Parts: sequence; C-alpha cells; structure tokens
Amino acid sequence: MQTSKVLPRLGAILLTYRCNAECDECCFECSPDRNSPKFDIEKIKEFIDQISKKDGIQLLVWSGGECFLEYQTLTLGIDYAKKKGFNSRCVSNAFWASSIEQATKKLLPLKQSGLVELNFSTGDSHQKFVPIERVMNATVAALQLGMKVFIAVESTSSSKFKPQDILENELYVNNIRGRELEKSFSIEPTVWVSFHDNNNYDYGEIIGNSGGCEGIFDTISIEPSFGLMGCCGITSNHIQELHLGKISEGNVYERYLAQQDDFLKLWIFTEGPEVIVKQASEWLGVDAPKFYHKCLYCAYLYQSNEIRSAIAENYHFVEERVLKKYQTETVLQSAFTS
Ligand code: SF4
Ligand code: SF4
Repeated sequence: MQTSKVLPRLGAILLTYRCNAECDECCFECSPDRNSPKFDIEKIKEFIDQISKKDGIQLLVWSGGECFLEYQTLTLGIDYAKKKGFNSRCVSNAFWASSIEQATKKLLPLKQSGLVELNFSTGDSHQKFVPIERVMNATVAALQLGMKVFIAVESTSSSKFKPQDILENELYVNNIRGRELEKSFSIEPTVWVSFHDNNNYDYGEIIGNSGGCEGIFDTISIEPSFGLMGCCGITSNHIQELHLGKISEGNVYERYLAQQDDFLKLWIFTEGPEVIVKQASEWLGVDAPKFYHKCLYCAYLYQSNEIRSAIAENYHFVEERVLKKYQTETVLQSAFTS
C-alpha cells in the first residue's frame, strides 16, 4: 500500500499481569492470585535490541499489572534500555511507597538506571488496596529525585475521590505546592470503564471516545501472554487482530509497521472506532450502540460479524477520505521529525 508509514514513538513492556491490588474494573483482570506468565530478562533484551536505533522511539514504558512486583527484572530492564539509548517511564499504583524515605530507596536505583518518569494511578477502586498516602509519598520522592510525575485519577461522574483531593493533600501542600518541583507534576481524570453489567457508571461529561486512536501506531508493545501487541488499549487482549505473534517470530518493528497495510486499522487510527461503528450501523440500517470508551467501540467492531461484514462491503465509500487523512498524518510526522 503506502510507502511512508507512521512511526511509533514509544515502546511498552507489560511485565506481568499480577498485581497487589484487585480493582473491580481492572482492564486486564489483574490480581495477587492471577497466574501470569513472567518475562525473563533475555526476552526483554531481545525486544529492546530489535527496536533500538529505530527512528522515532523516544521512551520505554514499563507497566503491567504492577511492574514493581518484578522489581529485579524492572531494574535490569531499565538499565539495559538506557544502554541502548532509551529513557524509561514506569506505570504503578505506588504500593511500595510506605514513606518518602522508603520510596526514595526504591526509586534511586531505577533513577540511576534511566527512569525519568512515573505515572501513578489512583481513585476510589485503587484506594481500597493502596492508600493515597503511598501515592503521595512516591510522588514526593520521585519529584525530589528529579523525575516527572503524572497521576491518573479514575473518574466517573459519581467518583468520590477527585483530582482536586491530590492538590489539597497535606503531603502535596507541604512538599510540592508552589515549589520548583511542581513544574514536573501533572494530574488528570481518566475514564474508569466498567466491564461488568452490574456496575453501570454514569460518566456525565467525561467521555473517552472522540477522534482517531493514536495508540494503534504510536506504541510498540509486548506482554507476557501473547507477545507483540498492536496497541496497549484496555480491550486489546480481547481483539485477536491486535495480537501480532511471539517476539521470536521475526522482526518486531516490521511486523508492527505492517499493521498499516490493514485498511481497518488505518480507519481506527484516523477517525476512531466510534465513527466506524456509527458508519457501519448506518450501512446496516440499525441504531449504533453507545460506549464510554473508544476501546470498547473497538472491541465491539472487531467482535461483531455484522459490523465487520458491513465494513467489508462498503469501505470503498470512505476509502479515499481515510487514506488522505492517513497520508496527511505521515507527512506531518515526517515534517516534525525532520
Ligand atoms: S492497580 Fe492497576 S493493574 Fe492493579 S488491579 Fe488496579 S487497575 Fe489493575
Ligand atoms: S481503540 Fe482499539 S486500537 Fe486503539 S488503543 Fe483501544 S483497543 Fe487499541
């Protein structure tokens, strides 16, 4: 198809599906008892070797599950990534930060190995397992070590814990507010999606749907069950077409880029799964379902035979528009990169 492609900017390694917590709506159903395969460090090195020296990739993201449960592999992996030219970000629930001192002790070796950013998740569900004080201890320690910190707060319109509660937390007020450290800190609400019929959250104005999906061509990722993944979206494990095979099955970078030979993925990238489901429903003459997250639309469109057939029969009506948008994106990316 096209010669020029959108290049990924991030690498991601989901180290484990085990977690100290067991949040109600964890998208990967992580828990302390989850029987998760483990990555050995040699597999991780193989992945890093394959993506190193590729244009565009700037950062490796270490996630899970709870990646700090595999602390030794995490430290070795971050160190190896640094040697290959990558800085690292970790995504964690901060369970390990029982005090600022303890958090500093945990983070210092990682910082020395190449960790530059931490993303913490918290909110009503997370706090049943990890008190907010731990998130704040980890935040203060990371900022004091010169790292960036982002906190994602799970949000529905009925959430009790809000981002503002972080900004009013005593540890924030005493250690961060009004100081230089504050410039390296950010916080955002993120849509907390229900995967169960008995939890019907109301999201009010909080919507995570609109627009194309950057994640599909932005992040080359591996996880311990399926290997190479087309994205790290919250429903990706349930979409066969996003499982790209074991790491050892060939050049991971080329296999990842080959996703851009698939028209449906180009459409997901440029206009997003919500637009696709609405358009396909219109072709079928039925009402489109409503979801509160683009990854739920994505899982629906891949799992519905009717929607897939409608796309296969009618995509030529939108093909030119989608390809033009895709080509514009590749041109823009190469202009900004150069
Ligand atoms: S802390 Fe994160 S990974 Fe762990 S159970 Fe909760 S949502 Fe899942
Ligand atoms: S919308 Fe689909 S392709 Fe994009 S991140 Fe979600 S599951 Fe992945």
